[in-house]
Amino acid sequence: MKKITVLGSTGSIGQNTLEVVRRHPDQFQIHGLTARGNVELLLAQIKEFRPHYVSVFDPELREAVQKHAGHCQVLSGPEGLVELASQPVDLVLNAVVGAVGLQPLLAAIKAGNHVAAANKEPLVMAGRYIMEEAGKQGVRILPVDSEHSAIFQCLEGSNHADVRCVHLTASGGPFYRYSPEEMRHISPAQAMSHPTWDMGAKISVDSATLMNKGLEIIEAMWLFGLELEQIRVVIHPQSIVHSLVEFVDGSFLAQLGRADMKLPIAYALNYPSRLTLSDERMDLATIGTLTFDKPDCKTFPCLALAQEAAQEGGTAPAILNAANEEAVAAFCNAKIPFLAIAEVVERTLSESNFSSAYDLDAVMEADRDARLRAQAHIASTSESTPLC
Ligand code: MG
Repeated sequence: MKKITVLGSTGSIGQNTLEVVRRHPDQFQIHGLTARGNVELLLAQIKEFRPHYVSVFDPELREAVQKHAGHCQVLSGPEGLVELASQPVDLVLNAVVGAVGLQPLLAAIKAGNHVAAANKEPLVMAGRYIMEEAGKQGVRILPVDSEHSAIFQCLEGSNHADVRCVHLTASGGPFYRYSPEEMRHISPAQAMSHPTWDMGAKISVDSATLMNKGLEIIEAMWLFGLELEQIRVVIHPQSIVHSLVEFVDGSFLAQLGRADMKLPIAYALNYPSRLTLSDERMDLATIGTLTFDKPDCKTFPCLALAQEAAQEGGTAPAILNAANEEAVAAFCNAKIPFLAIAEVVERTLSESNFSSAYDLDAVMEADRDARLRAQAHIASTSESTPLC
């Protein structure tokens, strides 16, 4: 029986993780769950999965949860997340959204817990530091992001020196082939409805701007020890091929499957064995055609911004990530238009001083500074731009 803690259990990845656990109750036991503020769902999860501990991000909700949590102990705040991540388990699945997942991820690693990483932002911000810490502790970081899970699966049994490059697939998001004029009038609701994947708000908007693919490039650099030049992006609107590895002899290996996050989650939960998931089969003849296309970096400048930050290294990816988080939150709250997300990130990056340091202090300082700069740009943008 594998003991698991799920950080972010009420979000999209968290719920899919518990669905996998629900189908294999004899293999997994839930030790801890954490939620940001969805008390109702967290209480239902406590009742069903009987964790020993839970944590709510908002401290004001702690009492309300404890009242109905029975013997389950309720923690709260960022400290609650860190405390739960550091309790010994077989695997911590980190599905927290954004930079807030960095400290619990490091706490899990330092405690010697293996990690399934669904939360890509910490790897973008501090990938080198995280991988060094994981190496010191002998901790495995298993990818949950579907593209990285695909690459991880394709790399099984191969030599690192035999890899020429990897090809990250991108669906293109809801605005694939939109004209610049059409891009001017995108609402948060449109950006949050993804054509092939069912995901949370932040990652849906990141997919719509292609920033998600940019963040995934940086994530792949650290997870697989690759150079920026070894990571290509290809648009694949069907979301059937989840990524590919190209070897020095010209061979490509790809991983294919339905666009269902339960697949990469199950692979990470039960690595190296696979789990039976459902009777639903993928019918290749029904799919018929798989297409591949070049990304349009002009219409989707976030992809190029992420590549520039990756090239710069040091604190640049942390600055990119912080500015993007602030801009996406402002867009979701209807404070800035869709196209201003890339502008805020670009302006924040262009006026920031990069440091080559990659320790936690340098990363956190860059994060704080970038958020202040991004917020100032958001304030000036929202004053000057009429929203549709
Ligand atoms: Mg992905």
